[in-house]
Amino acid sequence: MIKAKQLVHEYIRRDEEGNVESISTALDHVDLDVKPGEFIAILGHNGSGKSTLAKHINALLMPGEGSLWVDGMDTSEEQNVLPIRQTAGMVFQNPDNQIIASVVEEDVGFGPENIGVETDEIWQRVEESLKAVGMLKYRHHSPNKLSGGQKQRVAIAGVVAMQPKCIVLDEPTAMLDPNGRKEVIRTAHELNEKKGVTIILITHYMEEVVDADRVFVMDKGKIVMQGEPRQIFSQVGKLKEYRLDVPQVTILADLLRQSGVSVPMGVLHREELVEAILREAQIW
Ligand code: ADP
Ligand code: MG
Repeated sequence: MIKAKQLVHEYIRRDEEGNVESISTALDHVDLDVKPGEFIAILGHNGSGKSTLAKHINALLMPGEGSLWVDGMDTSEEQNVLPIRQTAGMVFQNPDNQIIASVVEEDVGFGPENIGVETDEIWQRVEESLKAVGMLKYRHHSPNKLSGGQKQRVAIAGVVAMQPKCIVLDEPTAMLDPNGRKEVIRTAHELNEKKGVTIILITHYMEEVVDADRVFVMDKGKIVMQGEPRQIFSQVGKLKEYRLDVPQVTILADLLRQSGVSVPMGVLHREELVEAILREAQIW
């Protein structure tokens, strides 16, 4: 679905005469391989290059060096830009910047209408997309009155209505309360499981990536760790080094393990740790 090979992106700042003032390397030889139907999470501290990578997947930026393919299409070729944007939909941080219409169903229908989909099919897509994100009963509502999580789900429905094979969500929960965050993550998983949409979830909340198929950790423009969630979360020291907020329960489990208590690797849920400790206690 997505393949990056030694992808480099530099933001170059120039003065009025066009002389280079500064260069910041946002992507530093990134390799990435995402298969169709995978649920991928990209974790990283602010400024690690996550959004720059997302923009490359949507052909909003072009590779400085290296290459990126989306569904086999090279993003550096002009004629691929539109098909790439229809293949890989984007969801951004702030739902308020993504919702344009004053009625939910019109907002969701806007994208398909814009690319000339026939009216009957637009309504069919609107209904299906709103159903997929659990917002069908709000179709006649005003987006303004919805909660943050609901708004973000409407924004996701708008992307789903374009029938992309892949959806990139760039910190979609950053502005939401804990409930809204859960709604959005659940929705992403449902789209992945029920519709087979490839998901790239970008976040800095570790709890949100527990159910991903694979996790990539970025730091200073590089992919510094990759693996299944449990493999990643069992390396607490490294995660802290990359300035990620490791959940307390993961830190505690790590410390317990270091002092000889047998708890599994990469514990992420409190219940999991409690169970492991009780098991130990019985053995004692
Ligand atoms: P993240 O999404 O992980 O926070 P970004 O991809 O936004 O990271 O940024 C990566 C690096 O590129 C940062 O050092 C940031 O300051 C720099 N950067 C991002 N956008 C621009 C821009 N438009 N111009 C110059 N530098 C930028
Ligand atoms: Mg970002």
